[in-house]
Amino acid sequence: QAKMKSNDRISFYINEISEKIEQKFFLANYLFSAISNNELSIKYQPIFNINDKKIVGAEALLRWDNAVLGQVPPERFIPVAEKTGLIISMGEWVLKEVCNQIKLWEDKGFDLIPISINISVKQLENINFAKAAIEIMNNKHIIPEFIEFEITESVSSGDITRIVKNIKELKRYGIKISMDDFGTGFSSLGQLDLFELDKLKIDKIFIDDFVQVYKRQNLVKSIIAMAKSLNLVTVAEGIETSEQLSHLRGLGCQLGQGFIFSKPLTVEEIEEFFKKDGK
Ligand code: C2E
Ligand code: MG
Ligand code: MG
Ligand code: MG
Repeated sequence: QAKMKSNDRISFYINEISEKIEQKFFLANYLFSAISNNELSIKYQPIFNINDKKIVGAEALLRWDNAVLGQVPPERFIPVAEKTGLIISMGEWVLKEVCNQIKLWEDKGFDLIPISINISVKQLENINFAKAAIEIMNNKHIIPEFIEFEITESVSSGDITRIVKNIKELKRYGIKISMDDFGTGFSSLGQLDLFELDKLKIDKIFIDDFVQVYKRQNLVKSIIAMAKSLNLVTVAEGIETSEQLSHLRGLGCQLGQGFIFSKPLTVEEIEEFFKKDGK
């Protein structure tokens, strides 16, 4: 009887696994033609100086709108793009699109702000990544100070040699690098300086309940202190309340991003922001 039970359990797992695989294939099928069907777009979430509340940059966030599936959140399609290798062409699409947008803003006479782009570890493991990215920026005549790249702690478990080589090349070109979602992954502190970081983005989970939870405050405090001693600018992600904001200011966090300032915006919406900010 015990055997029956374990067989049941196994077939249950197999069913669950194959369902997950089916879902991935299902998404992947549509994702393959997302670029050629013009289904991708970018939203821009402003990043602010916590002290004077001036806009200092924006993060490019990919959106996928499919006729059958509707709006699919990046948390669902990015992992599929990574597994299928589609992330390489999608990442290039994002970079080109952001470069084009920066040129359009320049032509319209806006003061430019740096735009940060999320880069998957799969892209960084591609030996040609830095070379291809630099070629795109060069062709579009983009000044490197207006593009920043965000990497995640998953780089620690990737092909470090290739990743570090790409980052070195990008840094030499003048691209700033941020560690995104800091504190959620498994990067060893000893490896942090390998990636020649400029900024540390403290993940939303640390900001969420840190006004109430004393331990969390100490954690955020020590992340900020560590970042300072490593000469890194700190960015708090997912700030939603004024309490969180004033606490972060008190702890010396420099930059912030979150719904309290602004949600991710369309091009038209962020242009309104530029105008209001006297840009
Ligand atoms: P991320 O890079 O950590 O981006 C921040 C995410 O937090 C965004 O979700 C943003 O909309 C959300 N967010 C910002 N402020 C708040 C807040 O105050 N409250 C709440 N509840 N959420 C907030 P989004 O746009 O859904 O993106 C999710 C993730 O997908 C990103 O996390 C990033 O890891 C990935 N992603 C997005 N675009 C790209 C891309 O072009 N390439 C790659 N490789 N990954 C991307
Ligand atoms: Mg990010
Ligand atoms: Mg993040
Ligand atoms: Mg995140």
